[in-house]
Amino acid sequence: MSAAQLVNPATEEVLASVELLDAAAVDDAVARAAAAQRRWARVSPAERAAGLRAFAAAVDAHVDELAALEVANSGHPISSADWEAGHVRDVLAFYAGSPERLSGKQIPVAGGLDVTFNEPLGVVGVITPWNFPMMIASWGIAPALAAGNAVLVKPAEWTPLTTLRLGELAVEAGLDRDLLQVLPGAGPVVGERLVTHPGVRKIVFTGSTRVGKSVMTGAAAHVKRVTLELGGKSANIVFDDCDLELAAASAPGGVFDNAGQDCCARSRILVQRNVYDRFMELLEPAVKAVAVGDPASRDTEMGPLVSAAHRDKVASYVPDDAPVAFRGSAPTGRGFWFPPTVLTPQRGDRAVTDEIFGPVVAVLPFDDEADAIALANDTAYGLSGSIWTDDLSRALRVSRAVEAGNLSVNSHSSVRYNTPFGGFKQSGLGRELGPDAPLGFTETKNVFVAIKEDT
Ligand code: NAD
Repeated sequence: MSAAQLVNPATEEVLASVELLDAAAVDDAVARAAAAQRRWARVSPAERAAGLRAFAAAVDAHVDELAALEVANSGHPISSADWEAGHVRDVLAFYAGSPERLSGKQIPVAGGLDVTFNEPLGVVGVITPWNFPMMIASWGIAPALAAGNAVLVKPAEWTPLTTLRLGELAVEAGLDRDLLQVLPGAGPVVGERLVTHPGVRKIVFTGSTRVGKSVMTGAAAHVKRVTLELGGKSANIVFDDCDLELAAASAPGGVFDNAGQDCCARSRILVQRNVYDRFMELLEPAVKAVAVGDPASRDTEMGPLVSAAHRDKVASYVPDDAPVAFRGSAPTGRGFWFPPTVLTPQRGDRAVTDEIFGPVVAVLPFDDEADAIALANDTAYGLSGSIWTDDLSRALRVSRAVEAGNLSVNSHSSVRYNTPFGGFKQSGLGRELGPDAPLGFTETKNVFVAIKEDT
């Protein structure tokens, strides 16, 4: 086994060292998880609910600690990290309501009684990215446990600390230590073994579309269930009839939140041509006002990028001759800083088509509603998007026409634990969160009981 050094992205100081597991350790974890799952599935629904409530309470008691860990490991601003830790608690609390509600159906048939059961799948693998480590882990963990499964989580190499702590908190809350196991390691080693291991019945993968495709291919060999939450290149569509001041003031938050390392980032702003110049005048001061700096400060709105390698990738989209309209500021010196950057490229430019996953946004003009819809849909992705208009009919027409899983009108909201989340097209497969998520961790079993004739 080897170890990886973790680096604080704001200071470049070494933060911790984490042991990376090998494939044999995964095999051992799967065997222990399978035994724990059989015990968990026999526990009454009310007791499983109580277990999840205890886990939520343990997270609630450690929100500050989890938030501080995320600040140090991922460079998230403390105000965001606080929200993320509270969201993990809320996700667990929400799905604590599920075990007692997975009631199946009774279906009228001739000659007997027909009922369905929502059986747990068994052992579920959850593979997470580095951008929202604990939040995304909780989206798989909570509904899977609620439905009676055991969970093995493979956190991203750069950001495992909050997920490892969640694993400890589950044990402190009284859950069987083999029921939820966190397995740090390399994607092609630990992640891949979860995909190929026949004892893992489902993979919930969140990450790049490239790796997601390979996970789907690997899972096919076992007809293994998959949920895929992949990349995005979402559009923020600004019509001329909207509150332009509000649209411009909120646009930076819609794309530069988490330094643009957000699958839902509205990284293409599409603006109706007759208000384009005015919108850009309003956008410039809003971008320059984004407070970029020390993530531990309560005043900070945007921290550093996660790593030097990722900063290099983001920077490759802003070469010296890039069509930069204006930029915000960022600290210089140590840390993986990159300023909020607004580009005005041509349609079809790689800054318009690729997911940059950093604080770089492309602004493009459009002519009319049909042009806006065509432009918004001119992407392989389909995760989220925003529509700014004061015309209700237009809001609904465009919402129905944009090929994306999560849209918001006159806001940039995407994620709520009680509403479904996921992508169209190459942004993914399946949905997380919302009331139905536990069903994604079950098999429907139909049982017919013949009724004997009264003799
Ligand atoms: P990534 O695809 O590089 O890695 C994601 C995870 O997969 C990591 O844990 C990694 O170790 C693991 N992995 C790598 N190779 C593997 C393999 N061969 N088999 C199994 N697992 C493997 O993605 P990333 O760079 O960590 O995250 C950024 C991406 O995640 C972006 O594209 C972003 O849009 C996407 N994302 C999507 C959502 C969503 O909900 N749709 C949410 C957050 C991030």
